[in-house]
Amino acid sequence: MAIPRETVEQILQTARIEEVVGEFVTLKKRGANLIGVCPFHNEKTPSFNVNPARNIFKCFGCGKAGDSAKFLMEHEHFTYPEALRYLAKKYNIKIEEKEQTAEELMQQSIREKMFNINEFADKYFVDTLWNTEEGKTIGLEYFRERGYLNPIIEKFHLGYNLEAPKWDAFTEHAKKNGYAETILGRRRYLRDINSANSVVRGFAERNAINAPIQGSSADMIKIAMIGIHEELQRLKMQSKMILQVHDELVFDAHFDELNDLKAIVQDKMVNALPLSVPVVVEMNTGNNWLEAH
Ligand SMILES: [Zn+2]
Repeated sequence: MAIPRETVEQILQTARIEEVVGEFVTLKKRGANLIGVCPFHNEKTPSFNVNPARNIFKCFGCGKAGDSAKFLMEHEHFTYPEALRYLAKKYNIKIEEKEQTAEELMQQSIREKMFNINEFADKYFVDTLWNTEEGKTIGLEYFRERGYLNPIIEKFHLGYNLEAPKWDAFTEHAKKNGYAETILGRRRYLRDINSANSVVRGFAERNAINAPIQGSSADMIKIAMIGIHEELQRLKMQSKMILQVHDELVFDAHFDELNDLKAIVQDKMVNALPLSVPVVVEMNTGNNWLEAH
């Protein structure tokens, strides 16, 4: 039995992130947001942020982020339906159960697999960066040259993919762990997008910097990236899309293209997926990534 899509939307829109999180984490007001000590990693200074306007949480220490359902899945180890049922109960929303079609069951299982593979890939690439000779001497060294300090590298789960002839080590590692080639195909496509940029081009050919994707924005940002990439090519623009970090895209922008670039990014992000909720795109610029934050 499944929860109808409209009910899911109703639940997610009704649930207040600050109320859901507030049952487990002591939150204090700070400006428009609330902050607390992160329940997902060890810390003394609060870096766990709750944003009531966007109805999401985000930890600037460990990178965990998402909506009310995601918080419950992480914190209570609920499945997605369990999280929804918990929220429905909390907000007195009645769920009219319906039978799932075969297609719906398949979609659900693809979604679950994608989610698992993202986590799996995340762990692999982060581990390769920190715990292999090549990751340390080439990957970490490269990030340091670019001015990324350890807290940034950790916060954004930056990872490293081994150079040829070992660049397919991840695929081998994944196969050994029972992941099918067809689904991994989508990941490889993303890596190709990344390798088409100037930063990575300056690097060895197969030397991709991998920033794995977390949460439900994964599909959306992939579609947006493809759209942006095509538009940049079509207009023969000099600005480059250089990195994806969670729900964030980093560009090397030419100053005289800045306004056009912003318009393209806005359009492709907002229109990536047909959603019943508004998409907010925030853009900042600076001389480097840290400054743009
Ligand atoms: Zn955290």
